[in-house]
Amino acid sequence: AESTFKLTYATMFNPPEELHTRFEQALAQVKARLGHEYGMIIDGKEVFAEKKFEDRNPANTDVVLGIFQQGTAEDARAALAAARRAFPAWSRMKWQDRVALIRKAADLIDQRIYEIAAVVSLEVGKNRMEALGDVAETADLFRYACDRMEANNGFVVEMGRDPLVGFEARNFSVLRPYGVWLVISPFNFPCALTGGPAAAALVTGNTVVMKPASDTPWSVRLIAECLRDAGLPDGVINYVTGPGSTLGQALIDSPEVDGITFTGSYDVGMHIYRSFAQGRWPRPTILEMGGKNPAIVSRHANLEDAAAGIVRSAFGLQGQKCSACSRIYIEAPVYDQLVSRLIELTNKLSIGDPTERKNFLGPVINRKSYADYQAFCEELSQAGTILTGGKVLTEGEYAKGYFCTPTLVANVPLDHRLWKYEMFLPISTIARVESLEEAMRLANDVDYGLTAGFYGTEEEAQWFFEHIEAGVVYANRPQGATTGAWPGFQPFGGWKGSGSTGKNAGGVHYLQLYMHEQSRTLIR
Ligand code: GLU
Repeated sequence: AESTFKLTYATMFNPPEELHTRFEQALAQVKARLGHEYGMIIDGKEVFAEKKFEDRNPANTDVVLGIFQQGTAEDARAALAAARRAFPAWSRMKWQDRVALIRKAADLIDQRIYEIAAVVSLEVGKNRMEALGDVAETADLFRYACDRMEANNGFVVEMGRDPLVGFEARNFSVLRPYGVWLVISPFNFPCALTGGPAAAALVTGNTVVMKPASDTPWSVRLIAECLRDAGLPDGVINYVTGPGSTLGQALIDSPEVDGITFTGSYDVGMHIYRSFAQGRWPRPTILEMGGKNPAIVSRHANLEDAAAGIVRSAFGLQGQKCSACSRIYIEAPVYDQLVSRLIELTNKLSIGDPTERKNFLGPVINRKSYADYQAFCEELSQAGTILTGGKVLTEGEYAKGYFCTPTLVANVPLDHRLWKYEMFLPISTIARVESLEEAMRLANDVDYGLTAGFYGTEEEAQWFFEHIEAGVVYANRPQGATTGAWPGFQPFGGWKGSGSTGKNAGGVHYLQLYMHEQSRTLIR
């Protein structure tokens, strides 16, 4: 086996030559097998549906990446039934054995990391470093879940002796899996946002049905393969593809689902929340929804760090991260200077085929996002001043993809709807504020509360942490104002309309969400 791939900010921002060579080799191999058909994985078997759908490259929509199955409600039932059958044995297996299997799957991801990243880059439109980041994060999420299982000794705790019955009674708190867990994931981090929840569910003893976004069936299939190939018993992990409106809804409506992790938009998340409440009893619902993430810049900030962090977070992955920085509040004394630096850095970003080394921005994900971008830019040009960007690219190498320019907008009235609406595109709005208090009031005046960034003195930063309503907050970070959380270091999850759980992924409290407690009293 190859050595474990480790991604750091140093390699991320200044990749060694070998990384490029290996990515390019893998890309060539992946490109040589475009257009193949892939099944669903149900009960360890390849399952094909009558109807298929094409998975196309958003950078060049002439290219069919693969053919995938349009799973039906019947496939949903079969996958849930397989997961149900597999649950008793899997949940009663020693947790140490589950840990060993998930670690093995993480190693398999490492071994295939360049291949999977090449697929992610082609399918999502991520640049190569962001694609590698998604895959490396997935392996780390697997390992972190295993580490937490060990650190908590499988979540068995001996409680105090009971003076009521007599001291011979021994008491235990044991966390046990719920049963069949559904993971519905978005296109933007297909690997990490499917693999992370799946690993947490699996290592704690649940069985899993995963349903990827229709834009990214291939990336998720590769993660499912790594789990299958690690030796998970049939039915423990199932992978189904198809439309959310039929297959997805059938999964959500099923009484056979014991818990769900959904990552995606606020509207779909709330729809799932309400549908899920129709069951016979309350079931755990882990919702990771959107963001409208602010950066606040004090007059005392290091403006170079602020500009670098904000541009990375606003435009990385074309602004299609729930952690993207979409609102920028700058104190008046440094406003002009910072805004001109932001424009300068934004104009330097290269746009194009995301698999190419030189490009930072790839295409947006699909025709709908492309149309949305144009409509939002039109609306914002009426409401305020587009400082840079605002256009789609349609000539030459851009002709067949969904390419949009990174866009900064100023002078948008503070009561405009787009200050509160998550666009999920490379568009960020900027406001001049008179004080940090004003910035904070505006920053918190949205339904979301996912990430937030600050640049200023340490004392100001502490004040920021205390007052901002968000689950992941950063101060003075040039690598990203609001993006780039890593498992084990920055637990990732939202408050308010951004999330339902209050316990962040990749953090110390996350696995507990996948288990219910059993209090055991034993008298010998
Ligand atoms: N974990 C990613 C980050 O911190 C964002 C994930 C997402 O957009 O859902 O940037």
